[in-house]
Amino acid sequence: MPELFTISAPPTPALAAAAAATLAPRLLAQAAASDVEGGFPTQEFDWLREAGLLAAPLPTKLNGSGLNEPAHTQELLSALRHIGRGNLAVGRVYEGHANALQLITRFGRPEQLERWAADAVAGHLFGVWNTEAHDGVKLAPLPSGRFRLSGSKTFGSGAGHLTRPLLTAALPDGGWQMLVLPADTQIPEYDARFWRPLGMRASASFRVDFTGLEIGSEELLGEPGDYYHQPGFSGGAIRFAAVQLGGAEAVFDETRRFLRALHRTDDPYQRQRLGQLSILVASGQHWLHAAAELAARPGPDAETLVAHANLVRSAIEDICLRVLPLAERCVGARGLLRPEPFERLHRDLTHYLRQPAPDAALADAGRYALDHPRPAYRLWHD
Ligand SMILES: Cc1cc2nc3c(=O)[nH]c(=O)nc-3n(C[C@H](O)[C@H](O)[C@H](O)COP(=O)(O)OP(=O)(O)OC[C@H]3O[C@@H](n4cnc5c(N)ncnc54)[C@H](O)[C@@H]3O)c2cc1C
Repeated sequence: MPELFTISAPPTPALAAAAAATLAPRLLAQAAASDVEGGFPTQEFDWLREAGLLAAPLPTKLNGSGLNEPAHTQELLSALRHIGRGNLAVGRVYEGHANALQLITRFGRPEQLERWAADAVAGHLFGVWNTEAHDGVKLAPLPSGRFRLSGSKTFGSGAGHLTRPLLTAALPDGGWQMLVLPADTQIPEYDARFWRPLGMRASASFRVDFTGLEIGSEELLGEPGDYYHQPGFSGGAIRFAAVQLGGAEAVFDETRRFLRALHRTDDPYQRQRLGQLSILVASGQHWLHAAAELAARPGPDAETLVAHANLVRSAIEDICLRVLPLAERCVGARGLLRPEPFERLHRDLTHYLRQPAPDAALADAGRYALDHPRPAYRLWHD
């Protein structure tokens, strides 16, 4: 569990994004150290705490930077991209932290919001655990007014390190209820054997069993079904896309460093590949810019925001999938040997690109285009 401490004044959104950019090279230099099964970038989260980044997604009136507010989506996506550029596992866990604080801000009662905001400012790490297998989490009301948990989540990133995971659980009538578990006192069982992955080892995305734990109603967040409220649920995909693009930027930067070190910059084929890589990375940046602009603009309805987010995540997945083989051809077999970072960057990005329902996401964007026959030049602007 982390050592908790209070930080001084929160940074502005622009300074929070700049702090993430400053941290990126340190994260990259340290990433190999936690790239082991069961590893977790503990020290890296101390750096994020010290930089005020754990409180940054909170509203300013609760000692945050307002990074989660629609008007600051640009800065939020920049921060996520820079952290992802440093270490995708750190980016994955930080994205979950920002997501949890967004859900808490949106659905928490005032006294809950105040309590959990104070926890984030004190350095508690949040996250969202929703994915489950056949033995998913159930929430049974007790005569005492408390609730008993049973069942497990899979892919619980930051398992054993998150002290305030937000999880979803099925009520007896099937309602899908969010709750925030005080995991430093109600300690679930972590099964590290679940996490023997291709990449993203350091995200510690274990199976987590909650059977037998009890919580009070003050830990329940929002009403049943709120978790899937749109555009927040699908629209949030722009956050993981930002982290993924950060991974592609790291591949780009390291490829160029490698070629320069070998004095292989005059070769026309390498130049051509760097040109293609430049188009891909810049395209991803443009997509994120457009997503942030749409989020900050008054007007777009939930359906439009979701369809656009589905395009953004599909486009960035495709961009990342094209960046990887181009970079492999640039650096060749010797570049794929440790201690060069490419084999880890490739494993991490390849695994992290596997996000829920990729086919359905692209199909939804296609359905939107078919249902709204505005000309292409103003498909996203009414
Ligand atoms: C590193 C990492 C960390 C993660 N951390 C968390 C976390 O902290 N919290 C959390 O809740 N989750 C987490 N996840 C889980 C993540 O959110 C997704 O749920 C998971 O990655 C999706 O798994 P999948 O690719 O096996 O999904 P699937 O949905 O099974 O997709 C696999 C393929 O099947 C297709 N498909 C989907 N449904 C159907 C169908 N009905 N019929 C036919 N084909 C279908 C998809 O389009 C895709 O092509 C994490 C995942 C990773 C990789």
